[in-house]
Amino acid sequence: MAASRRAPNDIFGDLLAVRRMVRYGRARPMNLVLLFAEDFQGDGERVRLEGRRARHVREVHRAGVGARLRVGLLDDRVGTGEITALTDTALEMRVTLAISPPAPLPVTLLLALPRPKTLRKVLQAVTAMGVKRIVLMKTWRVEKSFWASPLLAEAALREQLMLGLEQAGDTVLPSVTVRRRFKPFVEDEVSALAAGTLALLAHPGATAMCPRDVGRPVTLAVGPEGGFIPYEIDALRAQGFEAVSLGERRLRVEHAVPALLGRLF
Ligand code: SAM
Repeated sequence: MAASRRAPNDIFGDLLAVRRMVRYGRARPMNLVLLFAEDFQGDGERVRLEGRRARHVREVHRAGVGARLRVGLLDDRVGTGEITALTDTALEMRVTLAISPPAPLPVTLLLALPRPKTLRKVLQAVTAMGVKRIVLMKTWRVEKSFWASPLLAEAALREQLMLGLEQAGDTVLPSVTVRRRFKPFVEDEVSALAAGTLALLAHPGATAMCPRDVGRPVTLAVGPEGGFIPYEIDALRAQGFEAVSLGERRLRVEHAVPALLGRLF
């Protein structure tokens, strides 16, 4: 009787613990354990992991010796890892890698630098959706303080991209470049970046609706929280971009980007 009264609380306690871990960044999506060349030992089939990935398998997957996990080698194939040893600090697996990672989305995303919290969400989401080329650009309404964010450090960006790859079972890291000046970027670089693609700029005020299932590569520019200013819209139009809308509802950047990608592909 006592046990049956305790059971729901135990489950509730577990859920709270997982929620706490997610909130404080200890538990993250990991539908694939991402491996690096340096994780491999000896015969090329054995890997040893310590730190976040080993902890995640132990605490979130609650997997033990003999369990099989989905794994993938960075920029390479996807496969299975069978756990051969698991301690409080380390995890060992025997892995086979046989499958290609999911197909990428043929899109280059030009994203006005959002606030760090939003940037984290957008990077994870677009990486999970298969975007492989991201440019973080300055526009007039990007707050200056955002450029000082530690999230723009290479290692911090990479961490967000890896979380997106792990979520989607992908292994191919997107490239992220940062352009801190709008005018030279748009005037000198954008036409080469967008060559051969359908170039679109997302703007709630546009009269044309965003096309669906375009079936061809796209370069997509998305504005900051306050939107693009008219000068920026004109400058992108001069480079062949067409302004398109998702309708009259102004969406947050982290919602607009997946909505646009879902509609385009
Ligand atoms: N007040 C701003 C405006 O009217 O442009 C809203 C900016 S919105 C929060 C940030 C960016 O998300 C926009 O610059 C645009 O690129 C994209 N976006 C949001 N809602 C959109 C919509 N309904 N249609 C097209 N793009 C949208």
